[in-house]
Order: sequence, then C-alpha cells, then structure tokens
Amino acid sequence: MRRTGFLYDERFLLHRTGPEHPESPERLSAIHRGVEEAGLLSSLILISAIRAKQEWIEAVHSMKLIMRFEEACLWGLDMLDHADNRISRETFETAMLAAGGIIEVVDRVMKGDLDNAFCAVRPPGHHAEVNRVMGFCFFNNIAIAARYLQDKWRIRKIGIIDFDVHHGNGTQMIFDDDPSVFFYSIHEHPSFAYPGTGREFEKGSGSGLGFTLNSPVLPGQGDKEYKELLQRDLFPAFQEFKPEVILVSAGFDAHIDDDMSDIKLSTECFSWIMEKIVGMADRYSHGKVISILEGGYAIHRLPELSKNHIEILLGSKA
Ligand SMILES: [Zn+2]
Repeated sequence: MRRTGFLYDERFLLHRTGPEHPESPERLSAIHRGVEEAGLLSSLILISAIRAKQEWIEAVHSMKLIMRFEEACLWGLDMLDHADNRISRETFETAMLAAGGIIEVVDRVMKGDLDNAFCAVRPPGHHAEVNRVMGFCFFNNIAIAARYLQDKWRIRKIGIIDFDVHHGNGTQMIFDDDPSVFFYSIHEHPSFAYPGTGREFEKGSGSGLGFTLNSPVLPGQGDKEYKELLQRDLFPAFQEFKPEVILVSAGFDAHIDDDMSDIKLSTECFSWIMEKIVGMADRYSHGKVISILEGGYAIHRLPELSKNHIEILLGSKA
C-alpha cells in the first residue's frame, strides 16, 4: 500500500453557509464518516490543517481581495459579493486553514513522507480568480498549491486535472499564459452550466498557448462520453507533457444523483477516472498526486465516492 495522506480538520466545518446552501459542512462530515466507517483511517497518514502564511495566498490572489474577504468576515457580513458566496465569521480563517493544510501536504509529498494525498477541505477553490470570489469558492486552493510547487520546490511541469462538473475558470485564468502548468478540465458544456466558460477553443494564451485543454460534455451524457473524451484529450496530452506532479480538482458533482448538473456519471466511473489518474502519476510523476476536494453535493453518495477515491490512492482497491 502507498503512504496516502488524508487532510481533514473539524475546523473546516466552521465555515457556515446557512440552511439553504448546498456547500454545507455536512458534505465534509459525510466524507469523513465514509472514510471512518470503511476502516480506512488507520491506513492513512492523517494531516491536520495549519494556517496559511499570507505570502502563499498572495502568490495567487490580490491583497485587495484578501483584505476585503477578511474584513467582510470580521464585520459579520453574511455574503461576499454574491449570494453564492455566503460567509460566517469563521470563513476567512477556515479558508486560511484549508490552504495552509494543502501546503503542508505539498511539502510532505515533495519531501517523500507521503506518496499521494486526498485533501478534504472547505471552502472549495477552483472558481476563485485573482481578484474575485465565485461559485462557493474564496481562495483557489489548487492554484495556491501549484504556485507553491513552482516557487518553493522549483517544479516546472505541473499537471492539473479538474473533473468537477463545473469548469475550473479560476484555475484556468490564473495559469492561462503559463506553460509550466498544464490545466485540463472535463465538465458540463458551458452553454448549459455554471460558470459559462471552458469551451474547446480555450487553449491558453501567449507562451501558455496549448497548455490549457477543455472537454465540455453535453447534458444527459455520462460514463461513455467521459471515458471517450479522457482517452481522446487528457491521456495523450499528459503523455506528451509528462507532469512532475499531478494535482486534482476532485469534484463529485457530475454524479448521476447530484442535482447540480445534468451529467450522469456512475459511482464506478469516478473510480475508473481516479485509477487512470493514479496510473498516469505512476508513469510520469513518481506517483505524486495530490487530490483536493471541490464540489459534490449528493450527501448520501459522498461517503462511498470518497472511500473509493482514497482506496485507489492507497492502492488497496481490487
Ligand atoms: Zn462543481
């Protein structure tokens, strides 16, 4: 079995979004319960959150955004800019803990203490842009991890795979002109889904042209189309790019039972995707894969989906 890290911290539950909001603390409790009831905790290396240094956040986000976010929480406001981004007094600190915990995981993987990891964090991150919070996301966790890998660990080929059902617009924008980060996203077609970006012609810009790749999927489609598109688009792209580290924006909202989208992935297809990702990590990046939770709102499905995800990282799933 591999040495798999599991980042989870009860303080991630302190970001409260109110009774009607789908991005609820219960999502994370369900994930933890699934891992615990499957008896996996003793096989995992448990990582607690640490508070991020502000410089790690500033490597991605503007000071103006960081300060507005912190002040909104201190003032006791109930949202930041949009009703999607509900906040409580603890939201800023929770976001700092999530990002800091992920950086701790990055360090442990790069030092060789861990082979790979799953970071069960809230709030999610992939919609957050340099200057803008969006779609339940405040700090772009995966972008912060990628920047840290560049700055601290001098990694020059980072592969990001985003299989959340929504396009990772923030991550794409942040690395749009950066040829050292290959961003791949598969998601529901932007004509039908939030946030309205992620078309096939979006391929990066400047020296980053060709290092962004999007596979939009029409509503109603599922396992067959996802497998075909991943084989057509992602696998050859990563075979050529050969990332030194793979980061995953793991959203489980393309599941057939998740009412956030009209994509109909089975539980088994999520396992298939993760097995392929771990296989690519074995081939190109010495197994280094760090998976970070994004969306996933079918609370009754999250325990099994996260259990399977972690078993594949551990290498213990038959
Ligand atoms: Zn999503």
